[in-house]
Amino acid sequence: MTIEMKPEVQLDTNYYKVQHIKNLTDSTFLLRLPKSRFKFEAGQHISLSIAGDYQSREYSIYSAEEADFLDVLVKEVEGGYFSPKLKHLKKGDMVEVHGPFGRFALDTKKLETHQHIFIASGTGIAPFHSMVKSYPELDYKIIHGVRYANEAYEREEYENDRFFLCTSRDDSGDYKGRLTGYLKEAQFEKNSCFYLCGNSDMIFDAMEILKEKGFSRDDVNVEVYF
Ligand SMILES: Cc1cc2nc3c(=O)[nH]c(=O)nc-3n(C[C@H](O)[C@H](O)[C@H](O)COP(=O)(O)OP(=O)(O)OC[C@H]3O[C@@H](n4cnc5c(N)ncnc54)[C@H](O)[C@@H]3O)c2cc1C
Repeated sequence: MTIEMKPEVQLDTNYYKVQHIKNLTDSTFLLRLPKSRFKFEAGQHISLSIAGDYQSREYSIYSAEEADFLDVLVKEVEGGYFSPKLKHLKKGDMVEVHGPFGRFALDTKKLETHQHIFIASGTGIAPFHSMVKSYPELDYKIIHGVRYANEAYEREEYENDRFFLCTSRDDSGDYKGRLTGYLKEAQFEKNSCFYLCGNSDMIFDAMEILKEKGFSRDDVNVEVYF
């Protein structure tokens, strides 16, 4: 008797073809891959490498859990090894994907009881986009810290009154100055839970401010990019 294998069982590969690259600013872009059988929890990240290159880097998943594509939001770091190479990929180029990795995900016990405060610097907004799109009923507020207002990546994707922009180098945000400056002034409900993502300076300063405001470490989840 011949047992016919299902095609998805036979296909055991981590290689994905780039579907497209969408530039959001001169340096930041969305890289779209097919979703295939990939499963993840909003907030998790993948490890990406380019076929033929030995290096890899981590990227938070930007798209929703149920989307039929896999997006990552990448900033080309000047002088960086990997991100400039990603920026020059073309439709049809191969990348290798491993993962998903990480525990930076929503606490399902708090989904209906807490207000979710998402605090991001730069591309650190990526996991929050995935969370918001995966859980449309979520009670959330995003506080996004960038230098210039054009770095408020896809701001229109969020309900206007749930998105707050801090711009440190121009005054076209909702708050002129660093995100941490705004946090010091802001007031949060007692039932808030915090998710922080981005660079380590912002995260450590923000954790200190939240501690001073009386929130315990259990209320704060962090994902450090660099
Ligand atoms: C869990 C995790 C998730 C991540 N998710 C994302 C993501 O969704 N999008 C994203 O763009 N990056 C993300 N990163 C950062 C990413 O993995 C790389 O570090 C980044 O793309 C730079 O790689 P590179 O090879 O170009 O630079 P490298 O040659 O490795 O390093 C050059 C310098 O760039 C600095 N750097 C790293 N990331 C940034 C950044 N975003 N902005 C400014 N300077 C930076 C580093 O501190 C280093 O000094 C994530 C990192 C981690 C650990």
